[in-house]
Amino acid sequence: MSNQLVSYDPSNGTAIGEVTVTAVSGVPDVVSRALTAQKSWRNISVGDRVALIAKASKRVEKQASELSTLLSREMGKDIGRSSGEVSGCIYGAPHIAQQVEQAIRPKQVSGSTIEYRPLGVAAVISPWNYPLMMAVNLMIPALVAGNTVVFKPSEETPLIAQAYVDLLNEVLPPDVLQIVHGGAEQGQALVESNVNIIAFTGSREAGIDIMRRASGSLKRLVMELGGNDPMLVTQDADIRAAARFAVASSFENAGQMCTSTERIYVDESVADEFEKQVTMIASQYNIGPWNQQRVNIGPIINQRQRSKIITHIDDAVGKGARVLLGGKDHPEHYVTPTVIADVAPGMLMEQEETFGPVVSISRYSSLDQAIERANDSEYGLGAVVFTGADGPEIASKLEAGMVGINGGAGGGGDVPWVGAKQSGFGFHGSTDGHRQFTQVRVTR
Ligand code: NAD
Repeated sequence: MSNQLVSYDPSNGTAIGEVTVTAVSGVPDVVSRALTAQKSWRNISVGDRVALIAKASKRVEKQASELSTLLSREMGKDIGRSSGEVSGCIYGAPHIAQQVEQAIRPKQVSGSTIEYRPLGVAAVISPWNYPLMMAVNLMIPALVAGNTVVFKPSEETPLIAQAYVDLLNEVLPPDVLQIVHGGAEQGQALVESNVNIIAFTGSREAGIDIMRRASGSLKRLVMELGGNDPMLVTQDADIRAAARFAVASSFENAGQMCTSTERIYVDESVADEFEKQVTMIASQYNIGPWNQQRVNIGPIINQRQRSKIITHIDDAVGKGARVLLGGKDHPEHYVTPTVIADVAPGMLMEQEETFGPVVSISRYSSLDQAIERANDSEYGLGAVVFTGADGPEIASKLEAGMVGINGGAGGGGDVPWVGAKQSGFGFHGSTDGHRQFTQVRVTR
């Protein structure tokens, strides 16, 4: 990588700005400054740290419109979704900060005092699909718990990350929050540095590499990894509601969402109706750049990801799947909204995370077999079932960290955002999640 990291508009491939790449050899110095800054940061009261996050979020609020536009330009999502993400950070950060304050309050138990003390320096390594929210969810708990943070944003979205960090740094003391720009190499250097915890959100493959590199010094890990989320639709489900959810969840953020629906198993007795409804709803979606009216599917982040999605579609079609919508004539930088039926085990789309605007449908004749197929994945992030009265029973058999019954999995209030199996360990949010950034200490 050269000294400059250029950021591109994914809708047309034009350069929109650049940042200076952090030299790999310079990463230990960044961490060393963070270690020094932590000595004072940990002595600021938790209440004062919460107040600083609230003050910094006010600065972010003043720039909300500019930040939303930059997020859309750099990542490609429409302006409504970008504004939602920016607002989520503006209002979410102070809320998370208050939750952390409560989570790490010392407790008296059986004559002992339990304290939640800072660990030191936290490395926060983030993906591009929700470039601010994914970082904020881990960065704010780490900071409020008294750690300093070295943040490595995705190389696809360095500008929005830098803009957000600059605003926070108008308020935070020097070196409490620093940024390292670059790709996997810089991430690896950070993992191998003197940081005390690595809070990572990204792919399973990178997670495996991080775990291996962190093992030499037994570093703490928070791993929020990929998914291949299944959805079951039983014969007594509300088919229209199921179809609406299936399309919305498969197409959200152009399918580039960790909990987007990736595989749908529908009872064969209602499959014709389900496929008809899905195709009708999906055909109303439009692709285009973020600043065009009535666009709900943006470009794919880069050519590598776009090729992977198209390979998955072509592989399924080549192995006998039926295309109900799209599937070809993908405009440059985009993937045509696609609905595919008769997806079968052995197709890439069934086995891997496609991460694109594709609704992938299979029919089943036995619910038990459908559950088995839903669970036949190394991932276990989210899972959804649309059904009648048996919702809780079916849900209990699905191997996932987050299960939705007649609606989406995960989110909503102060609950953990969490994966099972190889979708990771550790999580965003909740009392237990915030305590991940602390050393528990018992004194009696
Ligand atoms: P990615 O793993 O390629 O990159 C994520 C970040 O890790 C980037 O900053 C990248 O530079 C860095 N990185 C890559 N390899 C590394 C290595 N070996 N060591 C250290 N750092 C490394 O993922 P991505 O393409 O940016 O994001 C998409 C993935 O993230 C999907 O799998 C998606 O499901 C997952 N994701 C999961 C969640 C969740 O909450 N579980 C949320 C969002 C995205």
